[in-house]
Amino acid sequence: MTRLLIIGPPGSGKGTQAQRLSAHLEIVPVSTGDIFRMNVLEQTVLGTEAQRHMDNGDLVPDHLTNDMVRQRLAMPDVEDGFLLDGYPRTLAQVEALDGMLASSGLRLDAVLELSVSDEQVVQRLLARADDRSDDNEEVIRHRLDLYHEQTNAVVSEYAERGLLTTVDGLGPVNDITDRTMTALAMTSIASTR
Ligand code: ADP
Repeated sequence: MTRLLIIGPPGSGKGTQAQRLSAHLEIVPVSTGDIFRMNVLEQTVLGTEAQRHMDNGDLVPDHLTNDMVRQRLAMPDVEDGFLLDGYPRTLAQVEALDGMLASSGLRLDAVLELSVSDEQVVQRLLARADDRSDDNEEVIRHRLDLYHEQTNAVVSEYAERGLLTTVDGLGPVNDITDRTMTALAMTSIASTR
């Protein structure tokens, strides 16, 4: 059983790596960004509320995000493991996740950080700018600022807990997956499979 987080700035490729890693590890990927986007498409109440924040590059408020993740992690398909992509992004979300896991007697096995420079991230996001309504330069810079303001503290928290593994996110997609799998093999999780 494997419970992992993947954290990285917008444009770090964490969504791509999350898909690949979860397939390799046979665990369910759970992306808060994807769940929000699905709600936006389906015009649910949550989607309508989330979209206002997403389009400005702001974070969706913690209580909405936490409730959504709590419901998702209560579903049976994640009982045998999950890879959370894009959550937690704030210290309040870390605390909420701690509570969710503790109430089921579970804990995280590892936290992966994909590291990519700000300039690289802006270049990559501008290159895909037509695909997403939150990918113009001003919104991208704002999302990056928020990452530094809020999510760096999340990374530090998991580093203090001894759970953090940082992987260089620069290079071909396959290489990064290999690098990440190698890094994970050096943590305890690979030996439990
Ligand atoms: P990116 O990493 O490029 O920002 P995501 O798909 O992870 O892409 O997230 C897209 C948007 O969804 C975010 O900018 C934010 O508005 C919202 N979102 C995703 N995850 C969270 C979260 N954990 N807390 C708050 N908002 C979130």
